[in-house]
Amino acid sequence: MEEPLAWQPYRDQRHAYPGRAMPGRNVRTLCGMHIETYLAGPGDWLWPDCHQCWQAAIGADRLPAPRREAVTHRPVPRPPVESVGGRSE
Ligand SMILES: [Zn+2]
Repeated sequence: MEEPLAWQPYRDQRHAYPGRAMPGRNVRTLCGMHIETYLAGPGDWLWPDCHQCWQAAIGADRLPAPRREAVTHRPVPRPPVESVGGRSE
């Protein structure tokens, strides 16, 4: 079972740490900082993600990496051309 990741706004960036979100705890973020979590206000979530935490989160396969499916272009099979009844002139 994968351990969940929690995100914590801290110093103008959002960092991730393993575990569940819980305010008032000392945690170690994925980028190696020791921070104390707190209940973030709505505005705090507008901060950009910490790049290192984001990369680590993706590398750990905890988050689905943005991936685009290759679009396959298949030729649409044409219906057989029916020979229109011979119209003689
Ligand atoms: Zn970070």
